[in-house]
Amino acid sequence: MLYHSSRDKSVEVTASEAIVKGLCSDGGLFVPEEIPYLSLDEIVALGNMSYSERATEIFSLFLTDFRKNEIKDCTGKAYTKEKFETDTIAPIYKLNEHTYILELWHGPTCAFKDMALQILPYLLTTSMEKTGTDKKVAILVATSGDTGKAALEGFRDVEGTKIFVFYPTGGVSEIQKLQMQTQEGANVGVYAIEGNFDDAQSGVKKIFSDNEFKAELRKRGYELSSANSINWGRLLPQIVYYVSSYAELVKNKEIACGEEINVCVPTGNFGNILAAYYAKEMGVPIKTLICASNSNNVLTEFIRTGVYNKNRAFVQTISPSMDILISSNLERLLYHMSDENSELVKELMTKLSEEGSYEVPDAIKEKLSESFYAAYCDDKFTMRTISDIERNYSYVMDTHTAVAQNVYEQYVAQTHDATKTVIASTASPFKFSGSVVNAIMGEDDAPSADDEFLLIEKLSEIGKMTPPKSLSELKGKEIRFPGVTKKEEMILRVSEFLA
Ligand SMILES: *Cc1c(COP(=O)(O)O)cnc(C)c1O
Repeated sequence: MLYHSSRDKSVEVTASEAIVKGLCSDGGLFVPEEIPYLSLDEIVALGNMSYSERATEIFSLFLTDFRKNEIKDCTGKAYTKEKFETDTIAPIYKLNEHTYILELWHGPTCAFKDMALQILPYLLTTSMEKTGTDKKVAILVATSGDTGKAALEGFRDVEGTKIFVFYPTGGVSEIQKLQMQTQEGANVGVYAIEGNFDDAQSGVKKIFSDNEFKAELRKRGYELSSANSINWGRLLPQIVYYVSSYAELVKNKEIACGEEINVCVPTGNFGNILAAYYAKEMGVPIKTLICASNSNNVLTEFIRTGVYNKNRAFVQTISPSMDILISSNLERLLYHMSDENSELVKELMTKLSEEGSYEVPDAIKEKLSESFYAAYCDDKFTMRTISDIERNYSYVMDTHTAVAQNVYEQYVAQTHDATKTVIASTASPFKFSGSVVNAIMGEDDAPSADDEFLLIEKLSEIGKMTPPKSLSELKGKEIRFPGVTKKEEMILRVSEFLA
């Protein structure tokens, strides 16, 4: 299978080239030339396999220039009990008769980004061998908090790679910051930038499209690549858990074979929910894709009206990994929903960068409303949802998952749809202990939010849960990367790192 650029259909590269390049040189994203189809029998058959075997099957459909053994090698190294502290890798918690929580945060950094970033380094190094590059890969990441740490952890000390991460000073939690500042490994670098996530992402995109700088790096022996969810090697592993969870629910007799489900996803950059869209297009019986946003509700408006408008105030919320106004992966959806009209996608993306907004044609609006439902939830309701769920079910969810839970409740109230629904749970509640403890205990009784470790202990006590080791171990760990830089100087920092 070949991959096109979402902005130029005549571009054709192999899967391994798409993974090594990350982003197309015209600024477009790599998209598969077709979406493979799985029969119900094939989907259900996955139920008898381990998670890494399921991943191998699905990867094989998309990575046609990889040998099956190579894929097996990658999935076998990534999806282990040691790294995910559970046999099933992505366990499903049944909240009630209709609601299933797909816990995607049992990996080493406690957020769903591990599902892809534990395997991306293996996919990337295998791809590098295939494309025959003699260069080292330099991974450049802009993070709203979770990607950065997950990428650092995935790539640390992986031979032939270096990784550099930018996070915004405003927006990441104390724990997220500590996780990155204390990162171990000989091939890693981290900087905070003065600004928000969109500043970080725009800065990184600018570096990627700076051909002069890239030529200079090539002279130094480096090829730039991305671990952001714009990389196909990030998105593909996310498709697996949607297909896998359907097979799992059938196997456990929670749903009948062929029965439709809804999928509800707390959304930021549109990567996770796009993976669910691919799963639907591949034949998984998904009825509605429920797109949950926080107060940065650009996507809610877009799905409801067909108008994307990022010209609005950026809101800092308690679900910071969703504080995003430019959802990069939406570009891939536009490509598929426009019947692969790369001219149109290019036009819309130019409008977005010049005017900050665009409107899609009616045909796309129709398709959006057929497949998607969208709503948003502000901080107040996020807190209330965490508290309600804890009280009613003794289940503790993080702020991002709570946004999804709340939006799902809105969906049910509005549509009365009783279809069983899988909610993607994207972070461990311990990663956002401050907000979660506040929500459950009430602001007056909760301890002050200054000491994150005290909050972790408190959450452990009131939720009767053991905190993940990777978080409790942060206490007292050496800060290796305290640096802050201006967004205009990001390119200088990269240049120094790759000197
Ligand atoms: C990244 C992230 C999201 C948003 O996922 P996208 O793929 O960017 O839509 C939601 N929740 C958490 C905890 C995250 O880390």
